[in-house]
Amino acid sequence: DMSQSMAAKHSIWPREKDIIFNLSARAQQAEKELGTNNVINATIGALMDDEGKLITMDTVYDEYKSLDNKDISAYAALEGQPDYLEAVKKVCFKDYLPEGYIKAVASPGGSGAIKLAAWNYTEEGDEVLTSDWFWSPYVSITEEIGRKVTTYKLFDEQNNFNFNSFKESFLNIASKQERIFTILNTPAHNPTGYSIPDEEWDKIIDLAKEVSKNPDKKIIFFVDIAYIDFASDDNASRKFFKKFSNLPENVLTIVGFSMSKGFTAYGMRMGSAICITSSENVSEEFYYACVHSCRANWSNCNRGAMKLLSNIVNDEAKFKAYTEEKNKHKQMLRRRADVFVKEAEKVGLDILPYRDGFFVSIPCENSRAVCEELTKDNLFMVPLKAGLRFAVCAVNEDKCKIAPSMIKNALEYIKSK
Ligand code: PLP
Repeated sequence: DMSQSMAAKHSIWPREKDIIFNLSARAQQAEKELGTNNVINATIGALMDDEGKLITMDTVYDEYKSLDNKDISAYAALEGQPDYLEAVKKVCFKDYLPEGYIKAVASPGGSGAIKLAAWNYTEEGDEVLTSDWFWSPYVSITEEIGRKVTTYKLFDEQNNFNFNSFKESFLNIASKQERIFTILNTPAHNPTGYSIPDEEWDKIIDLAKEVSKNPDKKIIFFVDIAYIDFASDDNASRKFFKKFSNLPENVLTIVGFSMSKGFTAYGMRMGSAICITSSENVSEEFYYACVHSCRANWSNCNRGAMKLLSNIVNDEAKFKAYTEEKNKHKQMLRRRADVFVKEAEKVGLDILPYRDGFFVSIPCENSRAVCEELTKDNLFMVPLKAGLRFAVCAVNEDKCKIAPSMIKNALEYIKSK
């Protein structure tokens, strides 16, 4: 009986099963029945070893298990433990700390940081800008609070960053809203594996500066760096942070930091929203706005996870050991992605420009039908609106080598039907 509804009107959403979850459950079922060797499960958004088991870094979990119970149990500061917030700045920016007022507030994962930023830096009814290929929770997070995601085209015909499309959408929002809130997921974008090149960042920032000449406009860049620790070059992938130095006071950057991928700490729910601004007042306002939201939503965050990060980052030897362990996994990821990209080229499978990260995307029509077709070959991937997402993070090299031709065949078969 659908007529009886107890939930508030704004809380009633379509009763759709999460498609990622569903395919991932089917993949796991197939693995159970046929053995992992005979199944390609490319649905998972976490780093898996070659046998398909979750990778958990020893340098992280040995440290976690050595913590004093009290460091896990006690309440933490609402804004995050001071040593955690310092450690976050250190690992986030490394040698590329921008100039200005930089303040971090703890959040439950990168997701919590997105919520903090979207809630405090947009008005009800506002459009929020991101690219047409995007991580779908951006919609859930903003839609729940009455905001709406609008998209620009991420790529042009040559598969380069489509600055013209970005500019058009940005100016369109600027013409009707006070705030222009943009989410840029880079480097190692989910789902495409693309990273915005530094020259394109220059154009984006010049555009922001131009629009900021109107003092009534407020420009907020939310930079989602969830995958930065798995970009091949730690330094090159951080250079763009310096570009957020000395921008006009009505341009604010908020970086969304997450421990999920970089520290294989997905379930620990620890991250941070970090503001970069040339105005001390804007940074103080950021701090108080976010701390209020923390109190009002989840109170404090995971103290043990905070202690874990600061212990590793503030100890040279531990940080070195962690970095070495992570780099081994990073190299594994790079090899898998290289094999997939190379093989795709060989068999003539069009993919989006992969640079770094956990995923490769294949543009296509009828993505659901293609995914369904591929399940017959025991290959499971995630259908998106405009294509397919293949998780190189979860699939070993041998499977990354055979997958592209399987996908190519399925695409042709569905097209021919
Ligand atoms: N942003 C992107 C693009 C992601 O893919 C993820 C996780 O999958 C996140 C942010 C946030 O993850 P978490 O909330 O676990 O830190």
